Amino acid sequence: MWNLPVLPRVRQPRRIVIVTSGGDSPGMNPAIRAVVRSAIHCGIEVLGSDRGYTGLVEDELRPMNTASVGNILHRGGTVLKSDRCDAFREPTVRARVAQALHKRGVEGLVVIGGDGSLTGAHLLAEETGFPVIGLPGTIDNDIYGTDDTIGFDTAVNTGLEAIDRIRDTAHSHERVFLVEVMGRSSGFIALAVGLAGGAESVLLPDCRIDVPELVQRLNLSKRRGKNSSLIVVAEGHDPQLTARLAGQLTEHGHQARACILGHIQRGGSPTGHDRLLASTLGASAVDHLCADKGDIMLGVQAGCIAAVPLRDVAGLRKPLPTGILDLARILAT
Ligand code: ADP
Repeated sequence: MWNLPVLPRVRQPRRIVIVTSGGDSPGMNPAIRAVVRSAIHCGIEVLGSDRGYTGLVEDELRPMNTASVGNILHRGGTVLKSDRCDAFREPTVRARVAQALHKRGVEGLVVIGGDGSLTGAHLLAEETGFPVIGLPGTIDNDIYGTDDTIGFDTAVNTGLEAIDRIRDTAHSHERVFLVEVMGRSSGFIALAVGLAGGAESVLLPDCRIDVPELVQRLNLSKRRGKNSSLIVVAEGHDPQLTARLAGQLTEHGHQARACILGHIQRGGSPTGHDRLLASTLGASAVDHLCADKGDIMLGVQAGCIAAVPLRDVAGLRKPLPTGILDLARILAT
């Protein structure tokens, strides 16, 4: 469980705006709910931006109250909608957004989103001095400065559910299944699903794929009496990779099928873990605004809520945990 940091109340904003941006993730709704209800509890007004940064750019903000976030805790996606907004990439547009927010009496912004959204949040904060708190909302878990992101746990569980089902068919038909999971070139979902799902191999993005070595491993498994295998493939830059690999393994005598999980991993009811994470981070975002903090992201480090400069989040790449790939291999043999 995460301890909520206790912060001094320096300056309570009159009004704040909440944005969900980029790819949606399960847990965005509990995060919205936590921000709205914590803020209202402190006497702060909350506005919601419609469709990510588009709502800020087009000044489409709607008042939020406790009722508007009722019955959303268990729902995937985001009730505020999300969007990609190219206009927000322009410094002049961001300056206009900050002016419009000032004009409306808005004194703080909470952005829930992935790497791109948090980069935009940092630029807005840095260029205009507007108080912005970012929350890591992405299934990919590829955000620097936090061990966990809102939506990752749900996506891993969705992947595992699929893998368990596919394993039944792989076993019955004595086949190899290559299961491609999402993760936007980062590989965190693939590693987690591979290890927890007992995959024979996990193929990560940007790693050289050695087909003869894969075949050798499958041959070895077969000799040990294992007639079906699962290989988890992380989505990468090549959309044909998984299908091509299945073809190559079949040519080498292993009946292989490709299964691409795709967007089913992005939706679904958030797990308890993601609801807890979203609720504590959302509440803490309001506390940080009241403590006059800005240009930071709130994440989790070693089990505690941690504030990380958004500059670091936007500029640094989160490394994959070491040793997990080997562990997955050892445990699957
Ligand atoms: P995610 O937040 O899931 O990584 P994107 O990368 O598509 O998704 O980013 C979402 C939105 O964040 C973009 O549509 C854009 O409005 C904003 N954004 C992304 N990158 C930048 C950037 N370098 N500068 C300013 N805004 C950005």
